[in-house]
Amino acid sequence: MSDTQLTLIDEVRTRFGPRAAITDPADVEPWLTDWRGRFHGSARAILSPSSTEEVSAIVKLAGEHRVPLVPQGGNTSMVGGATPPGDGSALILSLRRMNRLRTISAQHNVAIVEAGMILQQLHEQAAAVGRRFPLTLGSRGSCTVGGLISTNAGGTQVLRFGTMRSLVAGLEAVLPDGSIHSGLSGLKKDNRGYSLDQLLVGAEGTLGIVTAAALRLVPAVYSRAVGWAGVGDPQAALALLRDFEAKTDRIEGFELIPADSLELVLRHIPGTRNPLDGEHKWNVLIEATSSAPGFDPVELLQSLLAGAIGDKLVEDAMVASSESQAEALWRIRDSISEAERTDGPSTAHDISVAVADMPTFLLEAKAAVERAFPGTIASAFGHLGDGNLHFHVRAGSRSMPGWNQREGHEIERFVDDLVTAAGGSISAEHGIGQMKRGELERLAAPGDLAALRAIKNALDPHGLMNPGKLVG
Ligand SMILES: Cc1cc2nc3c(=O)[nH]c(=O)nc-3n(C[C@H](O)[C@H](O)[C@H](O)COP(=O)(O)OP(=O)(O)OC[C@H]3O[C@@H](n4cnc5c(N)ncnc54)[C@H](O)[C@@H]3O)c2cc1C
Repeated sequence: MSDTQLTLIDEVRTRFGPRAAITDPADVEPWLTDWRGRFHGSARAILSPSSTEEVSAIVKLAGEHRVPLVPQGGNTSMVGGATPPGDGSALILSLRRMNRLRTISAQHNVAIVEAGMILQQLHEQAAAVGRRFPLTLGSRGSCTVGGLISTNAGGTQVLRFGTMRSLVAGLEAVLPDGSIHSGLSGLKKDNRGYSLDQLLVGAEGTLGIVTAAALRLVPAVYSRAVGWAGVGDPQAALALLRDFEAKTDRIEGFELIPADSLELVLRHIPGTRNPLDGEHKWNVLIEATSSAPGFDPVELLQSLLAGAIGDKLVEDAMVASSESQAEALWRIRDSISEAERTDGPSTAHDISVAVADMPTFLLEAKAAVERAFPGTIASAFGHLGDGNLHFHVRAGSRSMPGWNQREGHEIERFVDDLVTAAGGSISAEHGIGQMKRGELERLAAPGDLAALRAIKNALDPHGLMNPGKLVG
């Protein structure tokens, strides 16, 4: 450990107590590897402040000693975003102790919470005042508000409510020079030039530390309907979504699931069963909600699906008749990645193209990958209505130790090239982190990359905020 790190850790301990700097290797170790187990870092300590003032003081000290900091929330990043570099040059700055609810108002439809609050707790706090925070995802029991903001996370309700960016009414953050940006007033209109709040959303901890956020709430769900439909191809799935959108504004979940993903789940995840009697090449999971009594989303979804069967858009369909059946349908969707992992190695691509182009793109990309890498199996599932699918390529018959590092790496470049040629994004919701950093550099427009770097260098001239991530 360098002397400067030791001095910094001692100063933090002296000023803020022993809980503010964790150095026991057994306590640090679990936070050095990313959720997917692909990146392993090294750090002598986790600095763990309990207030915005403490974060500010730590950032100033780190600046004086030139010690890089890696902000960390729940460490559920899919791109190694919160994993420190392997050379031990950085310390982790965990926001997990800062998890308080500051205020919540059903009247203003806003909750002001600290960055370390876990998403599940935010859902519970909102429900307690008859409101809902309308963003959810598989990691909700571990991921934090600060991480969700810093990755501009999406999830399964983006179709209706947008990504994290549209749910942030204001931010409090510590900038790289240690100053505190206070933007929690939740103003609906504020045109004082560049928006620091929005710059920090999706910045992956490279421009400062988010310490608290004012978040928009919506009315709580009074009742919901969850259904499953078998369709012939992704074009029919998108036509179904457009048909529903023309008839109702109650649809908030619409997930595409191919037959082979469903088959993998049924094979590997105990207790799951096919929602329909027959097999269908493609399936969609649909959720409709109502926030008011006196309106039945189950009736609505049943009638929409019956009409779609009549119009030959849908081959067969069902609507869950109980909450446990609804949960079982979502469990199938949420278990796809786990089922794939059990099945063998795969590469994962969180991609987006224009919504209308996605059905054709995914079929052509699947065919191109399987032609170029015979024996692999490409499939795509997820948020069709957002033009964002998780395009995964399983090693199939080519599976062997080290496949990910060799052929998997080639496949990643192949898929990223296809997406870029289609005018799409190589990272729709997970961010760049360290995993996609090289690909961003390879594929981004040079002018765009220069602008991103200029912003980074202007705010963080010594490169101390989350080094080695995004453009750092
Ligand atoms: C099972 C599972 C399902 C997921 N599903 C989805 C999904 O559907 N949609 C989706 O968008 N994502 C999904 N994700 C990934 C998603 O990015 C994270 O779950 C979440 O956004 C990260 O929150 P976190 O607190 O764990 O952040 P971390 O992993 O700790 O950090 C993520 C990034 O944010 C930075 N950061 C963290 N906190 C702060 C802070 N306070 N200030 C500044 N920077 C900070 C970190 O440095 C890092 O760059 C999923 C992940 C898992 C494991």
